[in-house]
Amino acid sequence: MSNPFVDLRSDTVTKPSAEMRAAIANAEVGDDVIGNDPTVDRLQRMTAEILGKETSLYMPSGSMTNQIAVRVHCKPGDEFICEAGCHIYNYEQAAFAQLSGVVARTVEGSGGVLQLDQLRGLIRPNNEHLVRTRLVCLENTHNRSAGKVQPYDTVAEICAWAHDNGLRTHLDGARLFNAVAASGISAADWSQHFDTVSVCFSKGLGAPVGSALAGSHEAIAEARRHRKLFGGGMRQVGIIAAGALYALEHNLERLADDHANAQILAEAVRSAEGIWLHPAEVDTNIVFFQVDPELASAADFVAALEVENVYALALGPDVIRMVTHLDVDAAGAQRAAEVIPHVAAQLAAGVRPPAHNIAAY
Ligand SMILES: *Cc1c(COP(=O)(O)O)cnc(C)c1O
Repeated sequence: MSNPFVDLRSDTVTKPSAEMRAAIANAEVGDDVIGNDPTVDRLQRMTAEILGKETSLYMPSGSMTNQIAVRVHCKPGDEFICEAGCHIYNYEQAAFAQLSGVVARTVEGSGGVLQLDQLRGLIRPNNEHLVRTRLVCLENTHNRSAGKVQPYDTVAEICAWAHDNGLRTHLDGARLFNAVAASGISAADWSQHFDTVSVCFSKGLGAPVGSALAGSHEAIAEARRHRKLFGGGMRQVGIIAAGALYALEHNLERLADDHANAQILAEAVRSAEGIWLHPAEVDTNIVFFQVDPELASAADFVAALEVENVYALALGPDVIRMVTHLDVDAAGAQRAAEVIPHVAAQLAAGVRPPAHNIAAY
């Protein structure tokens, strides 16, 4: 029996479809640093429209959009407030410190969610001993909290408080469209509370490259200067922007399929012995589960999955992550769902996987 592999390591592993490649091949291009790549212009306009912002700017990565947002809102010696598990703080090499001289004030949320009461009192008074508090960053969906959708009213409340107190707000919306699909709340409704919003085209939307930062003309003009400074000015970039544009035009609605497939995986984890979902509920396309150390390490569990052509990521000694996406259909999710309890049972019976695994990724 053939076992096509099911790659659940990340929603970044998608490959452009034939139709997307055709859009890329046929893209009209210009020189986007001089300022007139027509495909990039279209992408930026469409992104801004969907997010309800004046304008937007295409960049090579989500990390760059986030770090440039911090740079736009903060000066050296300023501080931003963020949730302790967020991407900006944990997975971007503290670029805000390395590149912008900015410090982060992390606050531990519950499942990635901050409450306003935790933030009141954190704004530092105007005093020459102190850094200046400038910005609040939120993340939706929250990656490390298994794609958790933020509670809308809490987001609105925190951002209103921030603005009332002279702070700016930035949304790391790498997976904002997953939050839209899961909540039924539009991207513009989510975005209206933030001065700047970043979205990724190369996660669930399935484009090969790129993210955008959206905001006011003024904020994005500043961002454009910093994009050049950070080395992100690109020339005939319509070539890759065409993939992002195709993704935006075709792949928003289908994110609900990824969420349905993630529920199939979640059920499989619930049905297996020795592993459990953590968190217990799956909101969108990310499934985290823990492995009983008596059964196996996360790395061994991942290696045993790999033998069955199911790829996942070990993100800690006992933590495994699986992410559904465009290149995993319901049949693929179903196959992974059969493999998960099978592997748990094999490990319980003492069958050990080979030492090699693909988790070092
Ligand atoms: C993936 C991701 C990013 C950006 O990642 P890049 O690899 O730099 O594109 C930012 N924030 C979150 C929450 C993410 O999941």
